[in-house]
Amino acid sequence: MSTLYHGGPIHPWADARRVEALLVRDGRVLQSGSLADLDGPGVRRVDLEGASAFPGFTDAHVHVWKVGQLRTTLLDLRDATSLDDLAARVAERHAQLPQGAWLWGRGWNEARLGAPPTRELLDRLAPGRPTLLTRTCAHIHAVSTPALERAGIHPGTPAPAGGEIDYARGILTETAYGLVYGAMPAPTQAQFEAWILAGLTHLKALGYTAATDPAVDPPLYDAYRALDAAGRLPIRVNLLFIRRPDGGAATYPLPERYLSPMLRCDSVKFFLDGGLSGATAAVSVPFRETGTRGVLRFDTAELYELAREAHVAGLRIGAHAIGDVALTQLLGVYARLAREHPAGPRHRIEHFGLPDAGHLRAARDLNVIVVPQPVFLHELRANYDRYVPGELAGQVFPLRAMFDAGLDVAFSSDGPVVRELRPLAGLAAAVAEPYVPGQAVTLSQALGAYTRGGAVAHGDDQQRGTLDRGKHADLTIIGGDLFSTDPHAWPDLPVRGAVAPTA
Ligand SMILES: [Zn+2]
Repeated sequence: MSTLYHGGPIHPWADARRVEALLVRDGRVLQSGSLADLDGPGVRRVDLEGASAFPGFTDAHVHVWKVGQLRTTLLDLRDATSLDDLAARVAERHAQLPQGAWLWGRGWNEARLGAPPTRELLDRLAPGRPTLLTRTCAHIHAVSTPALERAGIHPGTPAPAGGEIDYARGILTETAYGLVYGAMPAPTQAQFEAWILAGLTHLKALGYTAATDPAVDPPLYDAYRALDAAGRLPIRVNLLFIRRPDGGAATYPLPERYLSPMLRCDSVKFFLDGGLSGATAAVSVPFRETGTRGVLRFDTAELYELAREAHVAGLRIGAHAIGDVALTQLLGVYARLAREHPAGPRHRIEHFGLPDAGHLRAARDLNVIVVPQPVFLHELRANYDRYVPGELAGQVFPLRAMFDAGLDVAFSSDGPVVRELRPLAGLAAAVAEPYVPGQAVTLSQALGAYTRGGAVAHGDDQQRGTLDRGKHADLTIIGGDLFSTDPHAWPDLPVRGAVAPTA
């Protein structure tokens, strides 16, 4: 039986164009057009009751299992407003946990707290307990003395390549985190599955019908495949498989390719540098306040070799690069791959935080897909004001310039790096809150980046991303008309995602 959607504006191409009705059969779009043309006997009618329907939204970079973990077992510190507030929450959790168990929290941001938590503070709040408080960016971690002891870190312990250990303050940066993570009890597959489902269920409720989990290790990959085999994934998922886990120089083998209607893995992930909000991105001009230039995790020759293995195997690459120095390194690697091994797959750049005109041009020439996070402009603005030097301030997430350069752009939240995962908040930030004046995008551009751009980033734009005939009839349904509503009111409009059941 066919289903006919009607009773509200339907935007098949995620722009101002609208049609009256959409006819769907077996999860695929049969036709869109006027109600009179598509209506007929034997059709099940679904009245949108004035709501707007769009092609399903993709969050092209969201740490799904960590979103789920924060909604279930982790101590969520993202809205802690002061060190006293953080201390009260840590002490409360300490009192609830069994003796010897790890206390793991995430989400602190020194721009909100005034200063980062210290080892001395954690030792006082949770005496004798291994405590790990991950900063909101996940690139910087505050740890207690027992946590350092269990990780085998002593005052003289050297940091692994691409990381830093500040024993006195109890701060681990970038790859040094792997030492502590490796000392924690490994999550079971059942735990991973529960976190994935909690994360995906939440994303679907926010209006997404697809998401990229951008850092997946072998146990997590197993959990995703088990969920897909059991038909339990509530939205479509694309995975970027980690090649180099934190904490050392070990390398995971290339992942087995996996492509089903609900789950895709044909990509590997590299982290080239840190983040902008915590002043660890690799930049050419020192950050204000810290005077540092961030962390570059890879030697270029080694990065090229690891990337080449994936590229010649036909695997795509999604690489985290934020600072201008990291972007230069990555685009150089992509250029060399294109030169020495042409006709390879299309690669991605995650974040693309501080591109200059040369980076934009190179990304276009290399047909790279860029995946920035407009919601950062809303939530991390105070951090950029604090750290980004004047010389680079004009390059902070220049979204308009990405479109003007002709790039395929996919929007994403990078949750739980930010607290705000709602796609309509991302839309509003992209359209109304540029960090650099003149870098706002149009609503149609922003919608395109959440729909067609997200599908391009997943590599399944032949199957979804618009509501053209034959594509998945995944829908994001918004209780309002974005085109006649002020952007500041968008985030609070009711929204839900609906994935078309595949026959
Ligand atoms: Zn991320």
